[in-house]
Amino acid sequence: MASSLLTIIEPVNKPVSADPGDGLGRLRDNHGRVISDLRVSVTDRCNYRCVYCRTGTDGAQYSELPIDDYLRIIRVFVSLGIDKIRLTGGEPLLRKGLVDLVGEVAALRPAFADDPAAKLDIALTTNGHLLEDLAAPLHDAGLNRITISMDAVDPDIFARITRVPGSYERVLRGVRASQAAGLGPIKINAVLLRGFNEDQIEAFAKFSREENVIVRFIEFMPLEEDRTWTPETVVPMDEIIGRLNAFRPLVALPPNHASETARRFTFDDGLGEIGIIAPVSNPFCGHCSRVRLTSDGKVRTCLFSQSDHDLVGLMRRGATDEDMSAWIRAVVMRKEARHHIGEPGFLKPSRSMVHIGG
Ligand code: SAM
Repeated sequence: MASSLLTIIEPVNKPVSADPGDGLGRLRDNHGRVISDLRVSVTDRCNYRCVYCRTGTDGAQYSELPIDDYLRIIRVFVSLGIDKIRLTGGEPLLRKGLVDLVGEVAALRPAFADDPAAKLDIALTTNGHLLEDLAAPLHDAGLNRITISMDAVDPDIFARITRVPGSYERVLRGVRASQAAGLGPIKINAVLLRGFNEDQIEAFAKFSREENVIVRFIEFMPLEEDRTWTPETVVPMDEIIGRLNAFRPLVALPPNHASETARRFTFDDGLGEIGIIAPVSNPFCGHCSRVRLTSDGKVRTCLFSQSDHDLVGLMRRGATDEDMSAWIRAVVMRKEARHHIGEPGFLKPSRSMVHIGG
């Protein structure tokens, strides 16, 4: 049976053994990149309708796997060298069983660490609407880090973008509950969208300094359900840096690690931290270390992939963990060299961010 499963996708340039720990070493792609970071979408439901992500209506079909299936898939990826797991969605806090899943993942050990006491790095991305009551249980279950998406620090602009009135104060309480629970340093992700929130840049700088959080500005990418993206809607990195420097002089900080996606800064008095993630104006594909699992069990090797790879289908047909490992190695070999946003012929993926898992 293994052989028929393994011919579904042929490896590009390496024979693939069906033996995990088969001497092939850590998961890597055909461009020499080590793949260490798995993003798992645990639901594609969301309680927000952000203007840059979703349509205003809720006609979509949702698709989730049982929690145990995510756990099995994560375990297989970890056996191949994945040592960083980010749980995301949709909105992951909507998913029943999330705290237990974090606990189960926290019990796994990285497969290729020299230190036998090494642990996985477990992170979560959330909109924070349901976070106040969940921050401490998630931390206690083993969550290491949290990223909270907030696209404004003005409650009216926040409501205009999320299309959910009254949520800003809840998210702020979620940020503070996360600090209190020991999940700091907390990252706040803000997607900047021309005409909606570029006037929030300076207010976010103040927020970083006052709340002791890392604010990361993200360029808007063409991954929305509606067709709203144009190059003009992107607020590019240079403009963000210019505005921040006018607010208060910026000082560059070194990257935290080799596959860091953010350009990091503090201000001249050392207070506050800003990251700028610029996949459109300054792509960082060359050191991308990520793969994604969609909520319906498909592997995506790039946010902008034109196709998914049906891992759960393989599982449902009775694949062993070894079959899954070999299949994953072959799929990851085909990871795209880079995205082509802004180039002639660029094709937007058919799935939006809420379905891919951000
Ligand atoms: N619901 C969670 C949240 O709000 O953080 C997790 C899923 S959400 C899809 C993950 C991240 O993707 C959020 O920070 C969101 O702002 C970002 N995002 C969604 N669509 C995007 C786009 N078209 N371009 C850039 N970032 C986007």
